[in-house]
This record gives sequence, structure tokens and C-alpha cells, in this order.
Amino acid sequence: MRFHIVTLFPEAFDSYLKESIIGRAIAEKHISVSFVNPRMFVTGKYKKVWPDGNVSMIVDDRPFGGGPGMIIRAEPVLRAVESITKKIAKRAKVKVKVIHFAPSGEKFTTAYAKTSAKKYTDIIMLCGRYEGIDARVAKILKAEDVSIGDYVLTGGELPAMVLIDSISRQVPGVLGKLESLEEERVSSSEFYTRPEILEWPIPKKGVKSKKYSVPPVLLSGDHKKIEEWKKGTSKN
Ligand code: SAM
Repeated sequence: MRFHIVTLFPEAFDSYLKESIIGRAIAEKHISVSFVNPRMFVTGKYKKVWPDGNVSMIVDDRPFGGGPGMIIRAEPVLRAVESITKKIAKRAKVKVKVIHFAPSGEKFTTAYAKTSAKKYTDIIMLCGRYEGIDARVAKILKAEDVSIGDYVLTGGELPAMVLIDSISRQVPGVLGKLESLEEERVSSSEFYTRPEILEWPIPKKGVKSKKYSVPPVLLSGDHKKIEEWKKGTSKN
């Protein structure tokens, strides 16, 4: 699976993508994540040269019809996506999906992640900022609006990381054997490890501590009962 991220802030992804399962998936080439910054595709009057020689690549402009926020212009985003699709087109048998992040979009779920991992070889993600990206971009690219929840974030970078993480877990080879097994099992939303009885606050003179026990069924060795208990506590 190849993820292509269109973002004004590629550095925002750096540390997350290096860590743990996703870092390993990239190192082992099960997935790849590349970035294109629309700022690199700014042309004409939006490429402003200041008297001191500094250059500003302006990607946004004021909204038609008024409003407080700025809008990311269509052209630099379309050019950025064009640069990606040109590269993708050099490979055989590709299946490309374009996702545009929007708080009002289709809600992202594990089912969505599973379908995406099965159906596509390349996913292009458009990360909005400010008030968002000019609506013509999603129309031209036939992009699907996707939301990660009913709240408004500052930009599409966190949603992109959420999708990369969740979709990657569905790509063969990304999860180790044990992790894959865990994924398919009935999962409880309550987990316990040693000690069997936890005393908190740590007992010491003058401090009244309380004992917290692990549910006895988990120590029973009765696998049928344990599975039933897990189903009962599962919130999925
Ligand atoms: N008023 C804008 C709207 O309703 O679309 C809010 C724009 S928000 C400040 C900037 C960008 O963050 C959006 O264009 C989108 O790409 C991203 N974003 C914010 N919240 C999101 C969410 N819950 N799911 C997906 N993307 C989100």
C-alpha cells in the first residue's frame, strides 16, 4: 500500500511514522508514505518576491461570498496531485483512491480501513487547513470526503495519520502473527496484568490504601468463561 499525502505541513508526520508497528511496516516496505506540498506548485502572482529577496509561496486566498477564514486555492493542490498521479501511472495494475478530509465527510471506521486495504494499491489524501480546500478540487478528483469524528481539527494531518495507521494494520505482513491473532479475537475493553492485587496508594504509614483485584474469571483458567466475560465487557 502506498500512501501519498498532500499537505502544507509534511514535518508534522515525522515522529509518528518512525515509531513501533508503522515504523517497522515502512522499514520492511509493506507500506510507503510520501508527501507533496502544494506550496511547491505555486505560480504567477501568488509567488511573491519581497524587496529583501525572500519569496512567499501563497497557497490561500479569501473566500468568495465572504467569511472569516482563508481557503486553499485549487490550482496548487491539483498540480500537487497531478505530480503524484503521473508517478503512479508509471506502475502497472494500480488502483487509486483519493480521500479529502472534511469534518462533515463519511465517518472512518475499521470496515472502511479493511475495504481500502483490499481494494487499493495507492491512496492519495488531501489535508485541508484554514477553512479548507476549494470545493472544486474534490469534484475534479472525484475524491471522497472522509471524517474521523464529530469535532473540528485544525488540519487534515491528524486524520491522515489515523487512516495511515488503521489501514496499514489491514495490510498483510504489517502486524506480526500475535498481533494479527489479537486483532481477530473478541476484544475486551478491560485489560489486566500483574500483580493480581494492586494496592493504591502504595501502602505506607499513615496512608490508607485500597486493594484492587483482577476479575477472578481471568485467573480461573476456564477459557470458555473467559471468552464470555470478554464478550460481555466488549464495547465493539
Ligand atoms: N469549517 C471547516 C469545515 O467545516 O470543513 C473546518 C475546516 S478545519 C479548521 C481545517 C481542515 O481540517 C479541514 O479542511 C479538514 O481537512 C480537516 N479536518 C478538521 N476536522 C476534521 C475531522 N473531524 N475529520 C477529518 N478532517 C478534519
